[in-house]
Amino acid sequence: MSRTTVATIHLGALRHNLARIKAMAAPAQVMAVVKADAYGHGLERVARALDGAADAFAVAAQGDGLRLRAAGHRQRIVVLSGPDRASDIAEMQRLQLDAAIHHESQLAWLDGASSSRGPLRVWLKVDTGMHRLGFPPERAAEIHARLASMPGIDPEVGLLTHFSESEEFEGEETRAQIRRFNEAVKNLAGPRALSNSAGVLGWPDARGDWVRTGGLLYGLSVVPGKSGADFGFRPAMTLTTRLIAVNRIRRGERVGYNGTWTCPEDMPVGVAAVGYGDGYPRSAASGTPVLVGDRRVPLVGRVSMDLITLDLREAPQAKVGDRVTLWGAELPVEHIAAQAGTISYDLTCGMTRRVLFVED
Ligand code: PLP
Repeated sequence: MSRTTVATIHLGALRHNLARIKAMAAPAQVMAVVKADAYGHGLERVARALDGAADAFAVAAQGDGLRLRAAGHRQRIVVLSGPDRASDIAEMQRLQLDAAIHHESQLAWLDGASSSRGPLRVWLKVDTGMHRLGFPPERAAEIHARLASMPGIDPEVGLLTHFSESEEFEGEETRAQIRRFNEAVKNLAGPRALSNSAGVLGWPDARGDWVRTGGLLYGLSVVPGKSGADFGFRPAMTLTTRLIAVNRIRRGERVGYNGTWTCPEDMPVGVAAVGYGDGYPRSAASGTPVLVGDRRVPLVGRVSMDLITLDLREAPQAKVGDRVTLWGAELPVEHIAAQAGTISYDLTCGMTRRVLFVED
């Protein structure tokens, strides 16, 4: 099958971004968050690029830990939501995966863990305000003591929390989460891990012993109005396709499904081979920028499954076969995400199997 839509993954950008995170977060160690197939960039590819440079990897699904071990990675791997069922524990011990413990049910499974398989490293997750996973701060000391005394568990228990809106640099909520966390763990031993990417950018007093960065590794920012490049990071993905038709459409004619866009004059309309079937967001509004060659032109009308339509008045020389860039260094994915009413992570995670992945 010949595929026209190509996601190019820039391994040098991944390495640059990790080095920059390390410099910003030092002396904290860095967990490279590679969940969701490394935010859509490819788990094995990203782990290979960062092997030896990342202090640990963090995944959401235990199966991703298995994939990393199968690919030969020996460093620490943290499963951010821990075991999902009792039978996961033995496999975590066998694979030497760190478990994040956030719920009473996991404590019961851990109680039955055998010490003969080697100690399991655990992180206690404290819910300081996100109200998704974690024990309430007032229970942190009690759970910490229980974990540290379990026979199959490494007595050095890590301490985690997760911010709900750390990209709001002036926001009160993150300040309050940091305060609740510090209060809850103040008498407890063990490494602290609070910050995600926005935490690293905006909350220097929350560096702790480890940071857990996903977005910035891929050059992505969730800070409103800012791209990763604004903070010195490089986008790790460029998404391109080709123009497959250039048509002259008459003034007053409507373009695309439901005719949501009308030509204001006789004009060239380009058709590029990408759509929501590739992961380009269907919600991208008319006016979303696209590069044809080096010319910036607006998308017009609805995004279809396989195609988008482009106003080519600013690229009158454009012809079939020309390269079309949907996002990358010259066109930050954060801007496209904003046009589509979402965040950059959603777009890079959403690439479908039809997209050809290449590396440079
Ligand atoms: N830590 C946890 C628990 C997460 O769920 C995530 C991602 O959602 C991260 C860290 C990384 O966040 P970011 O990609 O914003 O750095």
